[in-house]
Amino acid sequence: MTINQSGWKPTAPEANEGTAPATFTGNRALMLEEALIFEIGDAETTGVDLADAPRVASKLGNLARTAPIGLPGLSEPETVRHYTRLSRQNYAIDLGLFPLGSCTMKHNPRLNEKMARLPGFADIHPLQPVDTVQGALGVINELAFWLIDLTGMHAVAMSPKAGAHGELCGILCIKAALEARGEGHRKVILVPESAHGTNPATAAFAGFSVEDIPATPDGRVDTEALKARLGPDVAGVMITNPNTCGLFERDLKEISDAVHAAGGYVYCDGANFNAIVGRVRPGDLGVDAMHINLHKTFSTPHGGGGPGSGPVVLSEALSPFAPLPYTAKTADGHIHLIEEERAEEFSKEHFGGRLDSFGRMVAFHGQMGMFTRALTYILSHGADGLRQVAEDAVLNANYVLRSLEDTLDAPFAGSGPCMHEAIFSDAGLAEGFSTIDVAKALIDEGFHPMTMYFPLVVHGAMLVEPTETESKAALDQFIGALRSVAERAKAGDQSLKTAPHFAPRARLDETLAARKPVLVWKD
Ligand SMILES: *Cc1c(COP(=O)(O)O)cnc(C)c1O
Repeated sequence: MTINQSGWKPTAPEANEGTAPATFTGNRALMLEEALIFEIGDAETTGVDLADAPRVASKLGNLARTAPIGLPGLSEPETVRHYTRLSRQNYAIDLGLFPLGSCTMKHNPRLNEKMARLPGFADIHPLQPVDTVQGALGVINELAFWLIDLTGMHAVAMSPKAGAHGELCGILCIKAALEARGEGHRKVILVPESAHGTNPATAAFAGFSVEDIPATPDGRVDTEALKARLGPDVAGVMITNPNTCGLFERDLKEISDAVHAAGGYVYCDGANFNAIVGRVRPGDLGVDAMHINLHKTFSTPHGGGGPGSGPVVLSEALSPFAPLPYTAKTADGHIHLIEEERAEEFSKEHFGGRLDSFGRMVAFHGQMGMFTRALTYILSHGADGLRQVAEDAVLNANYVLRSLEDTLDAPFAGSGPCMHEAIFSDAGLAEGFSTIDVAKALIDEGFHPMTMYFPLVVHGAMLVEPTETESKAALDQFIGALRSVAERAKAGDQSLKTAPHFAPRARLDETLAARKPVLVWKD
């Protein structure tokens, strides 16, 4: 076997010793050990068979490479096995329930993939003449109208490539609007304590200073504290609704009215739109800008840093500052891509003659593959189906909350029904046991752990978002697993401290891995 030829020594999971015999390979039946590609590959092996390149004089001068590049080579079947083995050590939404909260890890219908692979969408280039890509521009345009309709907003910037990128787009619109009003001196953005880390990061990145707004004991924004802080230095607020405690911010309209009266703008983090799509229109709540994570609410795969897409819906007040380009359909059915040269002409119709774009966010038009998947998802559900998505997501989360509140501490269980995610804490576990022990033991039960230690307002938080497509049977199995682990943690079962026992690797030093990542292979 290649792995043994290269002298690599398999590491059997330690915790299994005593319960299962060690194997020669380190493999455990279908769970195959796999070394790094640098350990199993070498410079001589290759998966391609090409004639030597003709010798041509180098024009690189002293920039020409003098030593071998040092990349490992494998044959084609070895390469396929390597990556297939690695993929089997990963958890995926296609393997089982993914309880990660604040992420909406939902099922991605296969129809989306089929549509995104149609050659008319997949095999085109953003620099093609617009006459040759009318279908693709039509997808962007139609999706834009759906997003505007579903949110009750005035316009949408389609190009941002993730939620956080959408936040930046919205905050830059707010900045441009303030400057256009001659109020660039407003430098404070108010952010609730429970906010996703990207919110304060975005505001700071855009040059604002961030101030925390406290939460009430029932897990919502302290409206009175927020109102008391409003003033001539406040540019706006960033509020997540439903919030990261899984609760609906009932006062959002009152908050928006107060912020507007004080001269500020309201940014809503719309990452949790899955819980309210088809039920609540953020535009009716006075929101000025909100990103929509297409890769959460409207399916489309995400995770592992994969492609996201974060269009930003805008109020009438912020629309003139939206980034370019945007699509516009004229009466003859032609779809135009509006760049700077034509913005003036089109702004009359679309923005009442005002247009003051802050610039552009990306090189081209956004994530075309994600647009196609999201529009497919929307059209295959229809308006009634999207509403049911929200209702079923909320029902499933409440089922998890009510099924486990007798076993795990549920800090906001008394605040009424939750939205799309249920929050628990480590209060009540045995001395010395914490959320991480529960999460690691869930891996042994065959589940990806829930979101841990977030939001920060809950000590030892466990945030569970089951999503709408999980059946009652799947939820019951997950609830049973979490109940069993929680009971072991309450009883002080020491074996939890070394969990996971059945994963390819046990506990890693996650802090060290994050702070001092080893990104370069040294021989
Ligand atoms: C996911 C998420 C974000 C960031 O979105 P990305 O697409 O990951 O950049 C922001 N806020 C909340 C509440 C989220 O859940």
